Amino acid sequence: MARPTSATIHIDALRHNLARVRALAPRSKIMAVVKADGYGHGLERVTRALAGADAFGVATIADAERIRAAGLSNRIVLLSGMDDPFDLPLLHGLDVDTVVHHDSQLAILEADRERTPVRAWLKIDTGMHRLGFPPTRAAELRARLLALPQVSEVVLMTHLASSDEFGGTQTPAQIAAFDAVDGVPGEACSLSNSAAVLGWPGAHRDWVRAGGALYGLSVVAGKTGADFGLRPAMTLATRLIAINRVAAGEPIGYSATWVCPEDMDIGVAAIGYGDGYPRSAPAGTPVIVRCAHGGDVRVPIVGRVSMDLMTLDLRGAAHARVGDPVVLWGPQLPAETIAAAAGTIAYELTCSITRRVRFFEA
Ligand SMILES: *Cc1c(COP(=O)(O)O)cnc(C)c1O
Repeated sequence: MARPTSATIHIDALRHNLARVRALAPRSKIMAVVKADGYGHGLERVTRALAGADAFGVATIADAERIRAAGLSNRIVLLSGMDDPFDLPLLHGLDVDTVVHHDSQLAILEADRERTPVRAWLKIDTGMHRLGFPPTRAAELRARLLALPQVSEVVLMTHLASSDEFGGTQTPAQIAAFDAVDGVPGEACSLSNSAAVLGWPGAHRDWVRAGGALYGLSVVAGKTGADFGLRPAMTLATRLIAINRVAAGEPIGYSATWVCPEDMDIGVAAIGYGDGYPRSAPAGTPVIVRCAHGGDVRVPIVGRVSMDLMTLDLRGAAHARVGDPVVLWGPQLPAETIAAAAGTIAYELTCSITRRVRFFEA
């Protein structure tokens, strides 16, 4: 039998989430952020499902090539911009916009004797201090870009560091820093990631850049995507491949970190960190066993997650049988719950699924 570990991508959930983002930011265009293989959901399937988006945001030119090869003609934005003069003809050939966040990139544009046509997204650092120019340079840089005959359009953008804290002070400070830039009236601008779409309507403006929300995921502490009307786009599942009776006092798994408090059934599910399930998920992290006779039962992991396998406390699932499906996350069990237990965010979980997991669409 083939290994039963699978990721099922819910195409209608992706479409629903795009419609939800549109409803939340009705006056904005939507850039669907699809970096890291569509947050691990599969670039081609995600971009086809989200073909109604106004643009796609990618991290690599190779991803733009894949989107074009899939036959999609949506606008595409290279979020970290180019880093080599040879990128310019590639961007032009694929009709991809570039972010300009550093003097080295402006130098490439200004040195281009071919005058390769390009659209630019000028990135201003309003306080995250990762990528971008200081706001004091925005006017000068915009003027230099627009002085280049090959640059047909400049969109002003910034990235928010703490938009997941709805009551926080950093986001208003970043919005104020952005608004202090002496903008050209009517000039397009873009500030919002998913959390700002959900919680900061004042930051929506012309373009929102939504990633996680489109996959039904939330990074807001204590909230799941469903709390915002989003639907998880991935179900990660496997099957029980063994059920073993283990005596009271016997240890389970590597380093004997968990000891049976009584005689009990231990289930073994065919998934582990070699599939992308986080090894950092501690004992007590829930999974759902879909008992063929007895319905869905939430049971805890016991012992360490290993490379190919995990062990489950089946005391609450008397009807469980070898072969029953086990759901690791999905609509019935939010990835946010697993991420919180493992000390990370749901984005990292979906991005970490490995190549041996088989993907399906539903
Ligand atoms: C990844 C990314 C986004 C999307 O962030 P989400 O939290 O997934 O919505 C938006 N803008 C930029 C520049 C990004 O790199």
